Amino acid sequence: MDHGISEGDLRRKTAAINRVLTKLYGEKSACVDEDPVDTLVETILSQNTTDVNSHRSFLALKSAYSDWNDLLGEDPSAVAKVIRSGGLPDIKARRIIGALEFINRERGAIELDFLRDMTASDADRWLAHIKGVGPKTRSIVLLFSLGMPAFPVDTHVHRVTKRLGLIGPKVTREAAQEVMESLVPVSEYYNFHINLIEHGRSVCRARKPACDACIVSRACDYFSEV
Ligand code: SF4
Repeated sequence: MDHGISEGDLRRKTAAINRVLTKLYGEKSACVDEDPVDTLVETILSQNTTDVNSHRSFLALKSAYSDWNDLLGEDPSAVAKVIRSGGLPDIKARRIIGALEFINRERGAIELDFLRDMTASDADRWLAHIKGVGPKTRSIVLLFSLGMPAFPVDTHVHRVTKRLGLIGPKVTREAAQEVMESLVPVSEYYNFHINLIEHGRSVCRARKPACDACIVSRACDYFSEV
């Protein structure tokens, strides 16, 4: 990591920012009893759309297909109609059907609970075989439903951590995951991930970040440069 700051100082800076954001937005704790297949499907639906829209399309999908087995061999255009409110319906329909068919083929049933018996890196490797399931989706399944150590980096986390200087200016979203996993204690992955998203949505927005109103501006590289 080359930030012109020692690794120890970077860890301290990260911990301080996490403390301040936790005070502001509250302590978040993971509820890991969600079915990992549901999380996988919902995360595929969340690509390139808002939480409200993706959740709406997830509920529509669940109500049209109460059993995931009903999606095996289903016509993607029929599924696309159901999930249209979440955007990119054709791509997402094919991805979801493909993922469920893959799981069914490999396991003989649509379930991912067997991943609980694996290490996080083995579970991640298994999920990586599913077409169209990238690092962010995998880490959300690991962290949110399986309680495994993974630090998902979405567009908000990527932007905010870059501006704050927790990751370097050229670090990709995929590479940022590894950096954040090494900087943050495992017990804080979920809390910090959620609060960074909250900060990115409400204050450190992509366009026109509200730096004057930002509670962590004193620790922010972007702020100190403007
Ligand atoms: S000071 Fe500005 S750029 Fe830095 S984290 Fe706050 S809102 Fe984002």
